[in-house]
Amino acid sequence: MIEFIDVQKTYPNGTVALQNINLKIAQGEFVAVIGLSGAGKSTLIRCINRMHDITGGQLNVDDVDVAKLKGKQVRRFRRRIGMIFQSFNLVTRTTVIKNVLVSFVPDLPVWRKLTGIFTKEHKIQALEALDKVGILDKAFIRVDQLSGGQQQRVALARTLAQNPAIILADEPIASLDPLTAKLVMDDFKRINKEMNISVIMNIHHVEIALEYADRIIGISKGAVVFDGKSAKVTKEI
Ligand code: ADP
Ligand code: ADP
Repeated sequence: MIEFIDVQKTYPNGTVALQNINLKIAQGEFVAVIGLSGAGKSTLIRCINRMHDITGGQLNVDDVDVAKLKGKQVRRFRRRIGMIFQSFNLVTRTTVIKNVLVSFVPDLPVWRKLTGIFTKEHKIQALEALDKVGILDKAFIRVDQLSGGQQQRVALARTLAQNPAIILADEPIASLDPLTAKLVMDDFKRINKEMNISVIMNIHHVEIALEYADRIIGISKGAVVFDGKSAKVTKEI
């Protein structure tokens, strides 16, 4: 479970991005975080895996006080939390399978990851992850030859290979056309339901959020202004 207790985040330049956030997210929920640009959505999800440090309150993930983790503990903690970005963050000039395999050698620098020696078990697990998102047939193709939707699925497979309890997704479909976006959302939904992985996703397509998520959290000016099953989306959000 993820628990925000009076969480605040003020950036070093004085921008207050989150003010007194109180939330509980149970294991296996599919949560869409909606709100205008600059509302604090990205900050909210990036605090969960300590990409950003909170500046007030407490944030617990499975009873771990996230702010108290140090060095190696942070890295181990992040292994259980997958992160998906709008821009995919793949190494495009190499094969799909290599991009997935890097998740088995998290502590190596990127160039070592790509030339790393991987076990047969790792290769099998990487292929299984690609199969789960329907792109097994693309395993040995270079990433830059894939469409945007296929690339986002590679990113999803890379995250799945690390066996996460939680997947954080920051505008994962923002750069995709509507049809492709739905196919990627279908993958998120299936992974969420079949593997009981929590999904917390920033998304600005309200209709898609309503269609796929179990719960909608509306953020405005760093505060929660809506939290419920079906969004009565108002002008404040
Ligand atoms: P959203 O994801 O809803 O667009 P963000 O979480 O990115 O919102 O931003 C919330 C607020 O914090 C905005 O005012 C934004 O400009 C500001 N902000 C985001 N990142 C930083 C940063 N690294 N330093 C200073 N201000 C930031
Ligand atoms: P996105 O939310 O799509 O990732 P942004 O343009 O909001 O893109 O932010 C890009 C990066 O710049 C993020 O790492 C964010 O934290 C940072 N950032 C956003 N707003 C500010 C700001 N006002 N000052 C400093 N950094 C910011």
